[in-house]
Amino acid sequence: MARLRKRRPENVSGPFYVDSSCIDCGTCWQWDPQHFEDHGDQARVWAQPQPGVETARALMAVQACPVAAIGATPALLRQTPAQGFPALITRHPAGEVYYCGWAARRSFGASSYLVVRPQGNVLVDSPRYNQPLTQAITARGGLAAMVMSHRDDVADHERWAEAFGCPRWVHHADRDAAPGAEYCPEGEDPVWVQEGLQLIPTPGHTAGSMVAVLGAANQDALQVLFSGDHLWWNRKHQRLAASQQYCWWSWREQVRSLAKLQHLNVGWLLPGHGDRHCFGPGEWRSHLKALLASVAEP
Ligand code: SF4
Repeated sequence: MARLRKRRPENVSGPFYVDSSCIDCGTCWQWDPQHFEDHGDQARVWAQPQPGVETARALMAVQACPVAAIGATPALLRQTPAQGFPALITRHPAGEVYYCGWAARRSFGASSYLVVRPQGNVLVDSPRYNQPLTQAITARGGLAAMVMSHRDDVADHERWAEAFGCPRWVHHADRDAAPGAEYCPEGEDPVWVQEGLQLIPTPGHTAGSMVAVLGAANQDALQVLFSGDHLWWNRKHQRLAASQQYCWWSWREQVRSLAKLQHLNVGWLLPGHGDRHCFGPGEWRSHLKALLASVAEP
């Protein structure tokens, strides 16, 4: 629970605030950039929400924060939407895609996603385990599988698997982070979790990093790419980004793995960290080409 006595002075005055326990994970300003922003090494409230829809969104940021660093008055907190997360991102022909909120500290606030599909629902990376989200997933039909992009974002995988009896997928090279995972593909060949949902090994950020792709490349609809920490959108510079600074295994391999995504036709890019983004037709390949040019060795 956020503490008023730890309220950061950088917050604008008003009922919502970020306190000094913020770990700068980005969850709040990615979810609600209208009111939260990165400010130095921590977040702050830069504009107070108006009553109604804006306040509801800010209250969901309170829920999503992995370390309870966002505070508001008790009266406002009582208005937290009961049916908040998961929040719909897009209705794709291959499945409805939701942002789970409820970020986990163990995954440094990484974003996780729920894909609701006729073939069975899939959880991509692990949100913080909690009852409201469990009930919301149950109401949508439970989970048929859980996919983990890499070792950093496994968080509460055991509890989700236990709650829904679903098998877990993690690459063999990151398997030690999720012992007990039922499916551990090896090597770099793509594998299908279900019809229309593919995992592509993209070693680099970690040895066992994988991205998940919803939808087929030859479909008219653009694909949804769950990219873990392999790459993400940079809202400020309006470009794709990947980081050598935050590469834990091999930057050379990560660059090579970026090139493996050139055949995709991505609409939504949904990363673990960094900004989400919706591309128009043809935009993905030009942005990826620019990223590859920027990371190429001279
Ligand atoms: S979600 Fe919480 S920990 Fe993450 S940046 Fe915002 S206030 Fe900080």
